[in-house]
Amino acid sequence: MRVVDERGRAQGSALYSSASQIAIRMLAPGPVENFSGLIRERLLAAIRYRNQVVTGTDACRLVFSEADFLPGLIVDRYNDVLTVQALTQAMDSEAARQAVISTLAEQLSPAGVVERVEERVRELEQLPPRANGLLAGEKMDTLFTMNGVRFQYRGLEGQKTGAFLDQRENYAAAARYAHGEALDVFCYQGGFALHLAGVCSRVTGVDSSRAALEAAEQNAALNQPAQESEWIEGNAFDLLKDYSEAGRQYDTIVLDPPAFARSRKTLDTALRGYKELNLRALKMLRPGGVLVTCSCSYHVSEGDFLETVASAALDARRTLRLIEKRGQGRDHPVLVGVPETSYLKCLILQVAG
Ligand code: SAH
Repeated sequence: MRVVDERGRAQGSALYSSASQIAIRMLAPGPVENFSGLIRERLLAAIRYRNQVVTGTDACRLVFSEADFLPGLIVDRYNDVLTVQALTQAMDSEAARQAVISTLAEQLSPAGVVERVEERVRELEQLPPRANGLLAGEKMDTLFTMNGVRFQYRGLEGQKTGAFLDQRENYAAAARYAHGEALDVFCYQGGFALHLAGVCSRVTGVDSSRAALEAAEQNAALNQPAQESEWIEGNAFDLLKDYSEAGRQYDTIVLDPPAFARSRKTLDTALRGYKELNLRALKMLRPGGVLVTCSCSYHVSEGDFLETVASAALDARRTLRLIEKRGQGRDHPVLVGVPETSYLKCLILQVAG
């Protein structure tokens, strides 16, 4: 649809939603004659960009919504299987779906294209319910590799579109500094843990989801790490409290919790949650130990997060050196001037002395 300002001057074209709090999402500075053609062009550009910046993996995000100028569309690649998520009325339209599926098939010849449904978003957009399922091809399950570590992909299972691809570059970074006994808290299917298994003497993964831990164990078997790995089902807050009070010690700890601040209103509670986790972890790190601490809450800024970690360090009486300040992988591009496209923070720190 055409967008005009209050004086009637043309502002460009946008996608419109009759239901969402976000009524319009800007698409182009001028008129759009051919929506399907525009989708195709932008998909080609998104694929070209990944070819430039993605290395060492056959899994990455191919389309990241607004950051690829395709608002409401997510496409991920897991080796020969692609996943598609339509998050807005316009991207869910038959015309958009057809343009996406045919362009992907023509460019990448996937063995399967799987639709991943975000039920909550479909409700917000007042779209009819749908189930996860095949959109094209026959394959839904596959194996993929990140930084030489192998993972299984199951089209109909798991959180997000299956894996946390945004952490891919951070896995490799964490493995550069990790050593000794490692604890991966909120480990999901073992993303960090399996990368650490190659360099640490022992790795323990913790998550509250039994299904995620079962997948982690299967992933561990795919890689046959020479080192031992152990998977514990539990609430991370309780477990960290118990372990730190029992005086357990580690050389490397990863904290990668789910987004605590889903809105600005819950920011204070979220920051308390981050502080508690980081405080417990810092108490358990041996001198020279490495903390990899993440926040995927958009509402928690990098500044807030650093301050929270600093305050935890003060309370834990540990001096911390900031080794790396990182974000989401380059296949999740950040648009300058569009702060919503930047959400992941990953700090790698070392306990001094
Ligand atoms: N580090 C993972 C991604 C973590 S996503 C990776 O790189 O793949 C967050 C994970 O936290 C999910 O697997 C979820 O099951 C788990 N989780 C959520 N709340 C939890 C809690 N209170 N205790 C333990 N795990 C929790």
